[in-house]
Amino acid sequence: MKNSYTITLKIKRYDPDSKRSWVQDYELGAGRILRFTDVFRKINNELDPSLAWDSSCEHAQCGTCAVRVNGKPLLACELLVENAVAYFGTTVFEVGPITIAPVVRDLIVDFEHAYERVNKVKPYIIEPAQNPNPGEEYHIDPRDLDRYVEATRCVNCFCCAEACISSHKGFLGPNAVMASIVRLMDPREQAEEERLELLYSEEGVYRCHTSMACSFVCPKEIDVAHFIALAKAGKFK
Ligand code: SF4
Ligand code: SF4
Repeated sequence: MKNSYTITLKIKRYDPDSKRSWVQDYELGAGRILRFTDVFRKINNELDPSLAWDSSCEHAQCGTCAVRVNGKPLLACELLVENAVAYFGTTVFEVGPITIAPVVRDLIVDFEHAYERVNKVKPYIIEPAQNPNPGEEYHIDPRDLDRYVEATRCVNCFCCAEACISSHKGFLGPNAVMASIVRLMDPREQAEEERLELLYSEEGVYRCHTSMACSFVCPKEIDVAHFIALAKAGKFK
C-alpha cells in the first residue's frame, strides 16, 4: 500500500465575471487518506488560491460538497485519495460541479435553485394527525417506522438527481419525490390527497424509468428507487 500518490485533478472552472469556462490541471502529491475536500484545500494553499469549492460539515451530513469525479456524482468529503485511485483505476481525475443547478463559480452551484424541487413537495408534515395520546410524544409503531426510516437519512446532496437522466427534464427528481413519499408513509401525515396529486402529476413518479442510478450513487446508501417503486404501486402503508 502506498502512503501517498501523485495525482492530477482536471478541474472544470467557471468565472462568472467573464463567463469563461475552462479545464485546469493541478498535479500534486496527496497522502492516501486525504479526502478530496482536503485535496481542494491543498490546491488552495499550495497551488492556486483562486479555485472555488464549497463544503460545510465535511462529515457527509450536509451535501454541500457534492461534485462529479470522473462522471460520478459524490461527496468530496467522503472520497479518500486511495479509494479514488482504487475505484477509478487511475490517478487522473476529472472534477466538475454537479449540473442539476446553475454554477456560481468553479465547483460551487446554486443549491437554492436545486432546493426549489424539494420545497415544491413540502418536505414536512402538512396536516398533522391528532395524537392518540394527547400530551405525550407521538408514538409511531416501529413496524411502520422500519418501512421508511432509511429514507430519513437523506441529506439532499442531489447526487441522485444528478445521476438521474429524467430529473434533468420534467421530473421533480428522486430526492424530491422521496421526501413526499416518506411523509405519505408517516402515520402523522393527513394531507394525502395533496401529496398524491403532485406525485402522480406530469412531474411525478411516472417520469422515473426505474434505472436505479439514484440508488447506486446515494452516499447515504438509500435505495431511492425502491421508494419510488412503492409510490408507483401505491404502497404507502
Ligand atoms: S437520496 Fe441520497 S443521493 Fe439523493 S439527495 Fe438524498 S442523500 Fe443525496
Ligand atoms: S430509478 Fe428513477 S429516479 Fe432513480 S435514477 Fe432511475 S429514473 Fe431516476
